[in-house]
Amino acid sequence: MEIPFLDLNAQYVSIKNDIHKAIDDVLNSCAFAGGPFVESFETEFASFCGCSEAIGVGNGTDALWLSLLALGVGPGHEVITVPNTFIATAEAISFCGATPVFVDVEASTYTINPELLENAITSKTRAIIPVHLNGQMADMDPIMEIAHKHGLFVVEDACQAHGAEYKGKRAGAIGNTGCFSFYPGKNLGAYGEAGAIVTNDADLAKKIRVLRDHGQEKKYHHSVIGWNARMDGLQGAILSVKLKHLPKWNTLRRQHARTYSERLGDIDQVILPLEAENRKHVFHIYAIRTKHRDTLMEYLKINGIQCGVHYPVPIHKQEAYSFNGYQNKQYPVAETVASELVSLPMYPELTGSMIETVCAEIKSWCNCGKIKNHEK
Ligand SMILES: *Cc1c(COP(=O)(O)O)cnc(C)c1O
Repeated sequence: MEIPFLDLNAQYVSIKNDIHKAIDDVLNSCAFAGGPFVESFETEFASFCGCSEAIGVGNGTDALWLSLLALGVGPGHEVITVPNTFIATAEAISFCGATPVFVDVEASTYTINPELLENAITSKTRAIIPVHLNGQMADMDPIMEIAHKHGLFVVEDACQAHGAEYKGKRAGAIGNTGCFSFYPGKNLGAYGEAGAIVTNDADLAKKIRVLRDHGQEKKYHHSVIGWNARMDGLQGAILSVKLKHLPKWNTLRRQHARTYSERLGDIDQVILPLEAENRKHVFHIYAIRTKHRDTLMEYLKINGIQCGVHYPVPIHKQEAYSFNGYQNKQYPVAETVASELVSLPMYPELTGSMIETVCAEIKSWCNCGKIKNHEK
């Protein structure tokens, strides 16, 4: 049996009729750029996140960038984030003219380690971007406390965490803004590119709406230099259809994660993902850790199982960031997990027998002596 890492078609066929109707509605009304379908989705998504405002934008990278711009982050400023994230988190900082400063992550959750935060704060620091990696929120209470103490903004990178919770609050609802990507493979995925910013700050929301639409408050009257970062109407309509299914899809992801963890719990060569106390993990990614990642992936590939690596190269080791002495800095946890994590197939439509097959193959890899039992 071939088991893909992701199967977007399986989801599409399950909602095909509603999707086609939504697309028809947009085509008939010609509301292609921004417009009523985007506005409806914004209202629904704000309410889903427990926020008063949502602003639909072109993608998750736009969401991060416009958040920082609206908060006044610019040249001469530093923004703290983690090195084990998708490059977009750092790019958004760099594209404001500010400097990314990295802080290592917790070995248990792979999210920013609040104990290391204060050491990284300087007089230039303006904001912190915690990344809710793999579908689990960062430890927000200490992060917010430190941010308040030092007068810093918090922009949540919630691009992998639609519907995740921290002490009952949804991702995006705790920081000054929460940034989401609706890239097709995310827990809530568009059929193209899209993103959103959520916030409870009405003034900030207004600024972001102006920035995403060429700095205009009234057509052809531009109060600031903005950009075109509007969400497209088709994506808004499609996302409204899909948002209704998101709670069920997240529940399925959590069930699959539980099954994986039950089946793999008795092999001590791998470290399983941990759901921290008071947090609800939505398993955008189910990643296990082993020192023998590359041989495991090779074995699974030969046996028809597709896996992924998120992410093989931490940002401070990327060629794009080969300036400013980034390469010489050390982030031991981020570096270790970059070489050890492997992401197993994970999507709501995954079947029980597929999960059994993946786990059986991992076990047979262990048993055929590829690694010894004590070597995690
Ligand atoms: C996907 C993602 C982004 C960027 O989103 P795009 O919609 O692809 O621009 C940013 N940060 C993280 C952590 C992501 O996973």
